[in-house]
Amino acid sequence: MNLILLGPPGAGKGTQAVQIAEAFGLLHLSSGDILRAERKARTELGQKAQVLMDRGALVPDDLILAMMVEHIGRAAERNGFLLDGFPRTLAQAQGLKSRLESAKMRLDHVVSVEVEDSEIVTRLTGRLYCPECGRTYHEKFSPPQVAGVCDVNGEKLLRRKDDTPEVVRQRLETYHRETKPLIAYYGEQGLLRSVSGVGEIDEVTARIKEACGA
Ligand code: ADP
Ligand code: ADP
Repeated sequence: MNLILLGPPGAGKGTQAVQIAEAFGLLHLSSGDILRAERKARTELGQKAQVLMDRGALVPDDLILAMMVEHIGRAAERNGFLLDGFPRTLAQAQGLKSRLESAKMRLDHVVSVEVEDSEIVTRLTGRLYCPECGRTYHEKFSPPQVAGVCDVNGEKLLRRKDDTPEVVRQRLETYHRETKPLIAYYGEQGLLRSVSGVGEIDEVTARIKEACGA
């Protein structure tokens, strides 16, 4: 099964993607995580992406598309892939469609996780992550067992540089302008399943599974 999780920054895509990928045996591909790994490794792509990411702007479509297509190629050994954070523009969605067609692959479901802007700001400004394993927490809604450290490996949790109120506003604006049109795009193709992203994390996971026919 090949899935896309669509939604604004902070909708819970990363949190849900981990659960859904494990439940269905899918390769979880988060464009944001892949870009952060490129930055950490100081690759050419990582260096190009750095300034754009820190100010909440999108990385150019051609770079993202090439990066994600390479990773999707590795999904063959799994039950499929789960895309999180990609595609984010119509050009990326159209590029993905033609690459999948050439590889004789197809999308099964595009799940749109819906959360209002005011809730997004609260979620992102309280978000913490582990720089070692990438696991995401929230200081109030999903706290680690011991304040400030990762449950998995005891690493000190960090805040993302782009989770400040000003950059979050910028990212939301970018979302409404560039990414929201994908809801209609996938709706026209009969692939869209909308779920509410509000409520307990496990409740949202159950809604997504149901939307995928599980
Ligand atoms: P995205 O990948 O869509 O940007 P994340 O999965 O990183 O979103 O979630 C953003 C923040 O919201 C994190 O701090 C996460 O712990 C928290 N969060 C995720 N799901 C929920 C939920 N259902 N209710 C409250 N907070 C949530
Ligand atoms: P979130 O889901 O919390 O908004 P991500 O981790 O998905 O954040 O993305 C962080 C940043 O990485 C984005 O603000 C953008 O600069 C860049 N990025 C991630 N995915 C894409 C994409 N598909 N297209 C362009 N830029 C991207």
